[in-house]
Amino acid sequence: MRDRYDVVVVGAGPAGSMAAKTAAEHDLETLLLEKRVGIGDPVRCAEGVGKEGLKQFIKPDTRWIAAEVKGARICFPGGIKIEMSEAGPEVGYVLERKIFDRELAKQAAKAGAEVMVKTRVVDLIKEDGFVRGVKAEHLGDSFDIHADVVIGADGVESKVGRWAGINTTLKPKDIETCAQFLMTDVDIDPCYCEFYIGNQIAPGGYAWVFPKGNNEANVGLGISGNRSELHPIDYLKRFVEKKYPGGQIIEMIMGGVPVTVPTKTTANGLMLVGDAARMSDPLTGGGIIHAMKSGTMAGEIASKAVQSGDSSVECLNEYERRWRSTIGATLQKSYKAKEWLLKLSDDEWNSIASSLVGINFEELTAFGLLKEVTLRNPKLLWDLRSLL
Ligand SMILES: Cc1cc2nc3c(=O)[nH]c(=O)nc-3n(C[C@H](O)[C@H](O)[C@H](O)COP(=O)(O)OP(=O)(O)OC[C@H]3O[C@@H](n4cnc5c(N)ncnc54)[C@H](O)[C@@H]3O)c2cc1C
Repeated sequence: MRDRYDVVVVGAGPAGSMAAKTAAEHDLETLLLEKRVGIGDPVRCAEGVGKEGLKQFIKPDTRWIAAEVKGARICFPGGIKIEMSEAGPEVGYVLERKIFDRELAKQAAKAGAEVMVKTRVVDLIKEDGFVRGVKAEHLGDSFDIHADVVIGADGVESKVGRWAGINTTLKPKDIETCAQFLMTDVDIDPCYCEFYIGNQIAPGGYAWVFPKGNNEANVGLGISGNRSELHPIDYLKRFVEKKYPGGQIIEMIMGGVPVTVPTKTTANGLMLVGDAARMSDPLTGGGIIHAMKSGTMAGEIASKAVQSGDSSVECLNEYERRWRSTIGATLQKSYKAKEWLLKLSDDEWNSIASSLVGINFEELTAFGLLKEVTLRNPKLLWDLRSLL
């Protein structure tokens, strides 16, 4: 390891590995730093991803795809189930992220990036109002690494943005706190992802059951940070005791999902990507594809900055313009939809569900569903007009 690189990427999740891979492909001297001992482990994800979104970045491979699902079901509090016969853009594959995340980091290494695990970034080097590198720790050693551009890909608990003076604080209502069990011996439909809605099940969120093959499934839920009386694990225990009394829990995870719209993602010498930039979809909580997309864009813009010798915020703002013009509108719409859905009582959910019975849905698209809801419930048109 040297003490100077063109680009240093903090965090080897999907956003960081894609950023490092792209930067290295543009011939930049790139260093990818990960604080954990192993990339991708522990998994803090339900691992569901849309097929088309994924294929933009990587060729699907059975080594890291646990299951391919045919469709999705949404289960409402009163018992009505809406079925989508095709998976659509929200679900399609259930990944094995321990292997997937490693594969992305390997691709970054193959493209020429240096990868260091068990290396925690503890601060930024700042000079003359610019981020000029990172301060890191590895096996008891502390050192400085200089860089023209730092990419903060340090996930939901990101500190990099804050150190650079960007306000990434999340309000309680803009974070979903999640708990998930990897369960075995569960009697599930292996071809469908299921979503359960209801204020008794997951206030301000939803529960999910994502099959992983061999009677295994990720069973989890997320609840709104400002709506919950209990810890998410208590809601989850209640859910699995009722649904899968014979199932065994072989792994347990907890984590947060930012459900907001990013404000600022650049500073002099710095870009934020993925969950560090708060780019998960506020309605579904899905963040893998946005992480990969933003990481790729940041790698490209880093290349321009390094080649032109200009890593000022004005130059890096091209990254901000690009993500806003590609995923910005979706994030805004999803946020408004989430705010509206948060207010619904179980009775209102059930009345919406009743209006959807008999419709032949093919694909699960969040906005396709909302559109159908307003067609069937014209009185909701006023509330949802800005989303359609
Ligand atoms: C319970 C749960 C279920 C989810 N389910 C889905 C789903 O089904 N589909 C979906 O698309 N999304 C899902 N998400 C969201 C998805 O996991 C994230 O959006 C995605 O992982 C974001 O990728 P990232 O690279 O930005 O961050 P992360 O994957 O969080 O990676 C950040 C990396 O940075 C490292 N790091 C942090 N700080 C430092 C530091 N100081 N120094 C060095 N390294 C550091 C971390 O160890 C980590 O490896 C879920 C999230 C949760 C919590």
